[in-house]
Amino acid sequence: MLALRKLAPEPGLALREVPEPAAPGPGEVTIRVAAAGICGTDLHVADWTAGYAAMATAMPVTLGHEFTGTITRLGASVSSFREGDRVVVRPSVVCGRCEPCRTGRSEDCVTRRGIGITRDGGFAALAIVPAENCVAVPDALPDALAALTEPMTVSAEAVDTAGVKPGDSVLIIGPGTIGQGAALFAEAAGAACVVVAGREDGARLATLRGLGFGDVVDTEGGSLREALEKAGLPLSYNVVIEAAGVPAVVGEALDLLALRGVLVICGIHAKPASIDLTALVRKHQQVRGSYRAPLATWPRVIGYLTENAERVSRMISAEFPLTEALEAFALAKSRSASKILLRP
Ligand SMILES: [Zn+2]
Ligand SMILES: [Zn+2]
Repeated sequence: MLALRKLAPEPGLALREVPEPAAPGPGEVTIRVAAAGICGTDLHVADWTAGYAAMATAMPVTLGHEFTGTITRLGASVSSFREGDRVVVRPSVVCGRCEPCRTGRSEDCVTRRGIGITRDGGFAALAIVPAENCVAVPDALPDALAALTEPMTVSAEAVDTAGVKPGDSVLIIGPGTIGQGAALFAEAAGAACVVVAGREDGARLATLRGLGFGDVVDTEGGSLREALEKAGLPLSYNVVIEAAGVPAVVGEALDLLALRGVLVICGIHAKPASIDLTALVRKHQQVRGSYRAPLATWPRVIGYLTENAERVSRMISAEFPLTEALEAFALAKSRSASKILLRP
């Protein structure tokens, strides 16, 4: 079968013919992949930017960690699923033995392995994953939308981490899939105003308008504060969610955060950020990091996607066969599109 792989710790990806995986081991299932999203992480791995060195020992490895498909084969002792079940896959494979795992916080496992990062993932026709990483998908949710589940759990976790309450004003920096999802979940949490900012990011801001968010700004050529001022939007927010991965915006974000406001960082930053801590102290602000969501978030997100299928379908810009994966990656990198799916 064809697989999109990372072969070596250097820039580049390769489409390779690989043997179909052997039978699933005990507790594992084989999945026929229906749709798999390309994410910012995949682009970083393709370009081999800093922060992914731990992958090197797993190479060559098939990428793809945002995928959905149908279970075609069950390993020994799998009783929770049957052949033919449609599922999405939680990419974090946990040890089950460390302190967080033993106390019901397996999302914090200290020796995780990532499906599509350090073990073979969903940019191939077949993938073998632990059955416990699968979450059932209802018939009413199409494959393309089910493939949005993983990034949308990251968005939901950012909004949960921020503790968005009814009536809050929320600023989201970074109009990619995570930011789009954060806008939707902030709205669902009752935010009175949701503003989204990007930089030279017209296509993804247009996606947000398509999702119904009119208060979007492009900071092209100026500061975030200037762009908000020019658009007549608020200059103080209860919550700011940073999903851009640009260290320089962290200081700008704190400057726009209200007294006792919460700044949630969920972008991956290749460099440290510099912030004014005295202003943070005097304004009693908090900075919180947010990453992967607990298991309980997954069915909630699947329910949201199912109930809002027509609306969330606007987050998907294009679908490509796996044979055109490299073209799909080039389009994703150009930022002239929102979510791009591969159809193995
Ligand atoms: Zn991802
Ligand atoms: Zn563990």
